[in-house]
Amino acid sequence: MVHFAKVRLSGFKSFVDPTEVDIAAGLTGIVGPNGCGKSNILEGLRWCMGEGSARQLRGGGMDDVIFNGTTDRPARNIAEVAIHLDNSDRTAPSAFNNFDELEVVRRIERDSGSSYRVNGQDVRARDVQLLFADLSTGARSTAIVSQGRIGALINAKPEGRRLLIEEAAGITGLHSRRHEAELRLRAAETNLERLEDVVTTLGGQLQGLKRQARQATRYRNLSEQIRSTEAMVLHQRWQAAQLALDEAKAQLAAVSEEVATLTAESARLSTGSADLGSKLPALREAEASAAAALHRHMVARDTLDTEEQRLTARRTELEARIAQVDADLAREQAHHQDAEAALARLQEEAAALGTGQDDSEVIDSARADRDGLRRSVETMETQATGLTRQIATRTAERDGLERRAAELAERLEQLQTRHAAAETELAALPR
Ligand code: ATP
Ligand code: MG
Repeated sequence: MVHFAKVRLSGFKSFVDPTEVDIAAGLTGIVGPNGCGKSNILEGLRWCMGEGSARQLRGGGMDDVIFNGTTDRPARNIAEVAIHLDNSDRTAPSAFNNFDELEVVRRIERDSGSSYRVNGQDVRARDVQLLFADLSTGARSTAIVSQGRIGALINAKPEGRRLLIEEAAGITGLHSRRHEAELRLRAAETNLERLEDVVTTLGGQLQGLKRQARQATRYRNLSEQIRSTEAMVLHQRWQAAQLALDEAKAQLAAVSEEVATLTAESARLSTGSADLGSKLPALREAEASAAAALHRHMVARDTLDTEEQRLTARRTELEARIAQVDADLAREQAHHQDAEAALARLQEEAAALGTGQDDSEVIDSARADRDGLRRSVETMETQATGLTRQIATRTAERDGLERRAAELAERLEQLQTRHAAAETELAALPR
């Protein structure tokens, strides 16, 4: 059987200094004058056992249990009551049955409420109340009989009396536990209802999630298909690209070869061009000189043409003059013959007549005429001879000039041919 060994009060009501009250085996009495604090000790016990009502402790609020000062001592902020229980025979409730002595402490701090400890370990008020209920006592227990309590018990209703009997039978704890169990059961039922609601909600969610899972599976399958299709497409594209690359490489090689050939050709042509370019000034010079020569020859030809025309005219003129001279000559010869004939006739006449003065005068004049005519004939002959010689010279000159003109024409033609060839070559050169 668990015994109350002692109670220690500190800062509780009038017990401002720590006070220990030993509760020995048997009967313990507290004797003192009115107002010395006897009832405060009992209230300390009940407070420590878990009393929750300040009114039951003759106070307005729970903080009233803290020493609130006297004329010569300041108020405290903390009150503490400790009950020592002797558990040497180990009959305490199982939760606290590990120790030989149990120390139950309730402590209150102003404005911040109570706290409970059993053997230094923090516990709930409920645990302490239950501990004392199991020990068939407690703050409201009938085991504590205060002033006027006996009369109240006698007048109590059967339920009230039943409490007393149950306490005596030691099942108050069970009642308290049943109450607690019922509370828990109700809480569990409430929880269960809530859980059912939750289950219903979750069921709905589950349907949604299942649908989502199906969609996700479908999505995954489709994604896989898409991925494999994409992979195939990409592979095909890659192959096509590879083929195109190979083709392009082949083309590149061909083009490179062509480029090399063309480069070589270009180099060759450049060399040719350079060669031709180097020949060009000479050709240009030749062309210029040929052109100059051509010009010169053309001028010469023009001169020769003019000369030829002049000579032709001159020859025509000379021919005319020759013809004239021939005509004159013939006329003069005819005159001469006439004169000869006349002379012969005159001489015949003279001979026939003999010598006479008159006739000699006529003969003299005829002779003078004849001599004059002879002289003019000689002059004309000389002139004709000179003219014939001049004609021969001019003809020779003309022949020479014609030959020269033919030569020049031939040379001109040659020069024109060369000029045309040089122009063709020049046009064929790259710009
Ligand atoms: P009675 O013989 O008349 O029953 P009692 O010995 O039971 O008297 P209590 O009623 O225990 O005396 O003590 C009352 C005394 O405790 C009063 O003097 C009161 O001033 C004092 N008291 C009560 N509460 C406090 C408190 N919070 N702080 C200081 N003193 C207090
Ligand atoms: Mg009293």
